[in-house]
Amino acid sequence: MSWRYDVVVVGAGIAGPIVARNVARAGYSVLLIDKKAAIGTPKQCAEGISIKVFDKYDIPYDKRFINREIYGAKLYSPSGYELEMRYKEVSGVILERKVFDKMLAYYAAKAGADVLARTEATDIIRKDGKIAGIKAKHEGEPVEIYADVIVAADGVESTIARKAGINTYAPPHEFDSSYEYEMLIEGFDPDLIHLWFGNEVAPRGYVWVFPKDEDRANVGIGINSDNPQTAKYYLDKWLKENNIPAKKLLEINVGLVPVGGFVKELAKDNVVVVGDAARQVNPMHGGGMGEAMNAATIASKWIVKALEEENISLLQNYTKEWWEKDGKRLEKVLKVRHVTEKLTDEDLDLFIQILSGADTEKIAGGDYGEVIKALLKHPKVILSPRRIKLLKQLL
Ligand SMILES: Cc1cc2nc3c(=O)[nH]c(=O)nc-3n(C[C@H](O)[C@H](O)[C@H](O)COP(=O)(O)OP(=O)(O)OC[C@H]3O[C@@H](n4cnc5c(N)ncnc54)[C@H](O)[C@@H]3O)c2cc1C
Repeated sequence: MSWRYDVVVVGAGIAGPIVARNVARAGYSVLLIDKKAAIGTPKQCAEGISIKVFDKYDIPYDKRFINREIYGAKLYSPSGYELEMRYKEVSGVILERKVFDKMLAYYAAKAGADVLARTEATDIIRKDGKIAGIKAKHEGEPVEIYADVIVAADGVESTIARKAGINTYAPPHEFDSSYEYEMLIEGFDPDLIHLWFGNEVAPRGYVWVFPKDEDRANVGIGINSDNPQTAKYYLDKWLKENNIPAKKLLEINVGLVPVGGFVKELAKDNVVVVGDAARQVNPMHGGGMGEAMNAATIASKWIVKALEEENISLLQNYTKEWWEKDGKRLEKVLKVRHVTEKLTDEDLDLFIQILSGADTEKIAGGDYGEVIKALLKHPKVILSPRRIKLLKQLL
């Protein structure tokens, strides 16, 4: 079997369907494939996303994939200090990704793209020294898919970009290992997401409770993947220590989250890499859906331009544009993460205590200036040379 398209997109998670939809809307032929038999299933996600993405990326606010609207966050320090950031308006939602991913693929199909589940890309096709397409298996049958542009949106374990000669290597330290139960749980305000910090709780990361219902939530953990202990060990320990019974588990998910190692070269010849495959994730909290949507929007703009002008070298502008704004922004966040990794439990306690008196709205909006201002006012910070040194590393 052999097919031909203008663009083939490998991976129908978040980034892939958005690229496919945007390129199809511009009138080009697109094939979106995913190796999963049911797009979106299984999920590997806590499903939390900002409310802003719906308007920004032209995604319908459809109740079919929204489990719960969220009004803010509550942070807990190792000794139990709390920082609550609650808004009058909805600030985010907990999605049902099994439905969301499938609907994103549906929007791509409605825009004109072909979409094939249970279709796995296995290799790159080279002709006369150039990449001409991909080899795939569609329902077990081999197929050759020829395309002018190939998009690797195949997630954290991406193979396609690497096979095309793009360096996607990142050291193990730049990944978080995560473990998550979707379970019945009570006693937490279901209008907020809840995050627990501490070197004994979740080294480098946090434990989360993201409510999907009054009494049902994604309860998970992310820790540095080079930790000698497993993420499951820390999550089960946290549940036990907090007397939370783990006997009503509806789902168990395991996954890796890239938290650094952003890919330098996002386009090589006619191959483009986007989303987790390009490590386009916020390295502080591990949220990657919004970043994947953003990168997919930039990538699709340059794919359309390259096709319109019959000039594949225009794809390089995707690398340029993403790095100039978003790459720079995420590198700064990574710098902050490298500093926060060094915080002791005592630092974390103090940090949360101090921030509870600062402008939490600005902090929640990612205003690190506000965080530093609040910290620099506190005598326990000013009088500690080690803490001052850590703060200086942020500036
Ligand atoms: C436990 C966990 C919790 C998370 N929680 C959040 C959260 O709350 N909020 C948030 O914003 N982010 C979260 N993330 C991160 C988020 O899930 C990812 O950043 C996001 O899904 C990236 O989208 P993507 O399209 O790049 O990749 P994915 O969503 O991973 O999609 C890649 C797709 O490619 C397909 N694929 C792979 N290889 C092939 C192949 N060879 N052929 C065909 N198809 C292929 C896969 O089946 C998959 O469907 C979490 C991650 C984990 C692991």
